[in-house]
Amino acid sequence: MFKKILIANRGEIALRIQRACRELGVKAVMVYSEADREAKYIKLADESVCIGPAPSALSYLNMPAIIAAAEVTDAEAIHPGYGFLSENADFAERVEKSGFKFIGPTPESIRIMGDKVSAKQAMIKAGVPCVPGSEGALPDDGPVIKRIAKSIGYPVIIKAAGGGGGRGMRVVHTEAALIHAVQTTKAEAGAAFGNPAVYMEKFLQNPRHIEIQIMADQHKNAVWLGERDCSMQRRHQKVIEEAPAPGIPRKLIEKIGERCVAAVKKIGYRGAGTFEFLFENGEFYFIEMNTRVQVEHPVTEWVTGVDIVKTQIMVAAGERLPFTQRQIEIKGHAIECRINAEDPYKFTPSPGRITTWHTPGGPGVRVDSHIYANYFVPPNYDSMIGKIIVHGDTREQALARMRTALAETVVEGINTNIALHRELMVDAKFMDGGTNIHYLEEWLSKRQR
Ligand code: ADP
Repeated sequence: MFKKILIANRGEIALRIQRACRELGVKAVMVYSEADREAKYIKLADESVCIGPAPSALSYLNMPAIIAAAEVTDAEAIHPGYGFLSENADFAERVEKSGFKFIGPTPESIRIMGDKVSAKQAMIKAGVPCVPGSEGALPDDGPVIKRIAKSIGYPVIIKAAGGGGGRGMRVVHTEAALIHAVQTTKAEAGAAFGNPAVYMEKFLQNPRHIEIQIMADQHKNAVWLGERDCSMQRRHQKVIEEAPAPGIPRKLIEKIGERCVAAVKKIGYRGAGTFEFLFENGEFYFIEMNTRVQVEHPVTEWVTGVDIVKTQIMVAAGERLPFTQRQIEIKGHAIECRINAEDPYKFTPSPGRITTWHTPGGPGVRVDSHIYANYFVPPNYDSMIGKIIVHGDTREQALARMRTALAETVVEGINTNIALHRELMVDAKFMDGGTNIHYLEEWLSKRQR
């Protein structure tokens, strides 16, 4: 096992990784920007290093500063968390070339999966079902693009090969709008992701977002840890996640889970990863793979009993997976609500000083958050300030526990989306389970104040 790990992230996930380090008896080095200097998890760390000013480009995305911090503190490995540099193949490469272990897959795996076009091609080869679409990136040829769209059938969605975070996508309903949409998406993708390549997929009308968590070691062992339903989204961003996915026959899930494990073995993947699918009319369609820990990992941890972050560190250190597929059993039901510092109606970010922070508790309640009373939410980063996760023997019990937890939670000084979650937890359709990816947006458009 490593003696010391550097955590190249901030906020709740930095604290989550620090906790895993403590359990493993590994020292944790935190890096931080000037905006995060006062954060409690920095003070709790064994060591900490300031890597630059508030803007991420100068701190959490600053590769030389992070690697230098690992050098001066004698860390052996770097955990990238999610977001920031976690899916940056060049960073993974630089980390390993500088003599540190990157806690994640190989740079090659990140590179293949980071480009959605090559990821899809790899998945087709590995026998994973994909959304019908263009074979590879779209050419610069109007008539050919029109022909591809016609063969797929409208509506289609134009997606950036390098896209992420729900950005770089455009739905097209008619041939008249096609070429302009392709050109605009290309221009945006070039500017936002440094890669103008776009591809086309059938736009599925009423799918659910179902994803499979996998874990693999360097000794050819791979296991899938059940599924998550992340269909409650706003602007292609997840708001609520749960496990297992309500109402999908286990046989169907098992089939796709086994496919994912076979694909992981085929591509020689190591570490934690997530296969994201759209699920419609009983069929799964691969959309992308995330080569890192996900925000929503706690729901899987709760229904499987596996500590995903600890396991990531263990397999990066060369250990074998401490469980086999047969030992993975899904128990009960878990739900996660992402708590964002934002207006619960207009969704504008709401940074600032938190004056009151009262956390919920009791049986089946977990809070992953780095905040506290008098914490200042900096305006420079993602608005997520924590996650409330609940577990119950049944989905009904989990829902009841989430209602209680949300009722107990008090955050003052800033706006949060807790009011939104409270409404959703008593929404009849959500309570039934199985809502599709458009449900939340439709619900919001009809919402009464
Ligand atoms: P990102 O990497 O930006 O998260 P994804 O490819 O994972 O992009 O897609 C994010 C979300 O966009 C999906 O969860 C789904 O809501 C929507 N989406 C993506 N592809 C399609 C499609 N072919 N049909 C319908 N919705 C889609």
